[in-house]
Amino acid sequence: MSKQKAYALGIDLGGTKTLAAVVDITTGEVVGSARKRTRAERGQDFVSQRTIELATIAINDANLSPEDSILAIGVGAAGQVDRKKGVVLDAPNLGVHDMPLGEILGNQFGKPVYVGNDVEVAAQGENIYGSGHGYNNFVCIFIGTGIGSGIVQNGQLYTGLTGTAGEVGHTIIDTNGRICGCGSRGCLEAYASRTAITKAIMAEIHHGRPSVLADDAARQLRQGETVIRSGILAAAIQQKDELTIEVIEEAGDYLGRALGSIMNFYNPDCIILGGGVIEAIDLLFETAIHRARTTALAAPSKTPIVRTKLGDYSGVVGAACLGAQLTGYKFS
Ligand SMILES: [Zn+2]
Repeated sequence: MSKQKAYALGIDLGGTKTLAAVVDITTGEVVGSARKRTRAERGQDFVSQRTIELATIAINDANLSPEDSILAIGVGAAGQVDRKKGVVLDAPNLGVHDMPLGEILGNQFGKPVYVGNDVEVAAQGENIYGSGHGYNNFVCIFIGTGIGSGIVQNGQLYTGLTGTAGEVGHTIIDTNGRICGCGSRGCLEAYASRTAITKAIMAEIHHGRPSVLADDAARQLRQGETVIRSGILAAAIQQKDELTIEVIEEAGDYLGRALGSIMNFYNPDCIILGGGVIEAIDLLFETAIHRARTTALAAPSKTPIVRTKLGDYSGVVGAACLGAQLTGYKFS
């Protein structure tokens, strides 16, 4: 007998875009969705209104029958959150501070709301319906404007004493190295994030190094985007652009050293990598794997390293699942 259908709404609130989706939580399938740019620069009220707007569009898009209502809502926000209070505490990329998102969405939709961190909810998506399915202990690392990770231990998210576990982007890989956004020096994020890749390429172009990206990337950055799009990087590599290949290989090498260190330290069942650059650029993924295997000690060096299965949907599926779990829903 097939399990009865159940639905929850997941929202991935990112610095660049916001995605809302109605998820069939019995299968992980997205049955309705909506996506728009977040426009964080317009302020907190705009961000909360946009979140409500996208949630409403996704619910209409799903066109559920009246007996199939939504159980709960889950949100993954790109910043620090208070999970108990449902508040986004501090999220520079979203331009919000102490935003009571749980209360705002709860009042609007009359459902229980889980508010988590974007990386944590994406790891939960991969845990329940993605590449982590079948593994009990793994680390899910996302390469974006920053680098974050979600840790799954005994099948459950591990968030740590202060709720901040998984800040792998701020692992120090060079004590006298580049200054990181966190104020420290030599963090992984300053070498292998999309921001770091963009900075390294633009600095070389600025110094006169030829690259097929000189026009494309500069135009895109002038238009207000902060990082070079993954698709543009992938195309430059296809065209054998020497500068892009060099920068991506260097980023992959640093990322691989971090992965090797994680294998040694945590000895997980598996490491899952996600984010646009990992999805789009084989060279980055393969360089990182090669370096990880030569960095780690012999026994853990064989740890499987795979990409996310849900891709862009990891966050919304995980957020929906965490929302449903608030109501006592159990995933098998
Ligand atoms: Zn840092």
